[in-house]
Amino acid sequence: MNVSQLARSIAESPTLKLNEEARLLKEKGEAVIHLGAGEPKNKAPINAILSSAAKLNTGDVKYTPADGTPSLKRAIIRYTEENYDRMVAPENIIVSAGAKQSVFNLLYTILNPQEEVIILAPYWVSYPEMVRMCYGVPVIVTPEDGSFHPRMKDIEQKVSSYTKAIILNSPNNPSGIMYKEEFIAEIVEFCERKGIYCIMDDIYHKLIFDGRKQVSAYKYSKKDLENSRVVVVNGISKLYGMTGFRIGWTVAPKPLVEIMTNVQGQITTTTSVILQAAAEGALMGLQSIVDGLRLMIENNRNVMVQELQSFKGVKITKPDGTFYCLPDFRAYNNNSLELSKFLLKRALVVTVPGKEFGMEGHLRLSYCGTIKEIKQGVERIKWALDPDSPNEIYIGERKLVRDWL
Ligand code: PMP
Repeated sequence: MNVSQLARSIAESPTLKLNEEARLLKEKGEAVIHLGAGEPKNKAPINAILSSAAKLNTGDVKYTPADGTPSLKRAIIRYTEENYDRMVAPENIIVSAGAKQSVFNLLYTILNPQEEVIILAPYWVSYPEMVRMCYGVPVIVTPEDGSFHPRMKDIEQKVSSYTKAIILNSPNNPSGIMYKEEFIAEIVEFCERKGIYCIMDDIYHKLIFDGRKQVSAYKYSKKDLENSRVVVVNGISKLYGMTGFRIGWTVAPKPLVEIMTNVQGQITTTTSVILQAAAEGALMGLQSIVDGLRLMIENNRNVMVQELQSFKGVKITKPDGTFYCLPDFRAYNNNSLELSKFLLKRALVVTVPGKEFGMEGHLRLSYCGTIKEIKQGVERIKWALDPDSPNEIYIGERKLVRDWL
């Protein structure tokens, strides 16, 4: 096939691939448990539905400005003031088709070929691929002590004259941990001193447990928004469990937003006006929905951690937020891809190999499903791996006997 070398080298999204595999197995009637999912099962907030339905009912469904509708931008301004304590103007905001497109547009706008972006492992799978799609070079920094907390000195060692940006995602997909406040302070100071963009992917910033609150990078910026290197990406996907609505946004200095708008204007012109109306409805509606979602997921987190703590060979770092955790399975297998395939085949449990996130030997397990799925999923993994667990299990209607340990 005659396609570009770069396009051919871009990896398939492992999570989307797993979703498809799980769907096909379910279609065949298999009792699959999906611990790979990246979306809660809630219904969209009623305000989002009413607001988008009202727009649809007008029949007036046309292009919007490439940076988003003025009214959605007003809702994002309000959100930014309330949650980041920052006054921003409409010209500081650009709406995109999901935070995924926000990150891509941003990288496309700032990167020259061969410029480097520092990515902290474990990282969201799409960052390195997106950097490469913009002809940039992803530079991965992995914590040496085996924790999920990067150290400033490891980052400093990887910074070169080509470094254009650092991407931070806290709370973090896939580990669920939140970076320490001192670390955020240090990195913002470092980026502003060096003139490096500090990209904050805040997509999970309200999904934080144990009464803790998000740390906004702006708090540590010594510059006003126009001169700051901090750029914030956020969206409604995780905040309201509205993944299918495809709305994300970027808050950045005006000249950057202007160029991002030109770029987006040549590609998608932004996202549908109906979906923008839905996002506006969600942002302007009752925010207790966000708390409800968080409490439900926090309870799931507690169950997941409890189940994994009783699993002898597994080491679990308790997540501070998100709906993921990244337990260490090296006692059973160092090869996470092999392990994940084995668990799908033998136990019909979907997990995501840690290798995809830059953490080999780990598996990402999601706890945004039901308590039953979490308990049964971990029970099945135990059955497949732990010789001390009972060697018989029911999977769906079938009674299975373990004969490989
Ligand atoms: N950033 C991170 C860290 C994510 O996990 C995701 C979704 N999995 C996104 C961005 C993209 O979210 P959206 O649905 O808004 O494109």
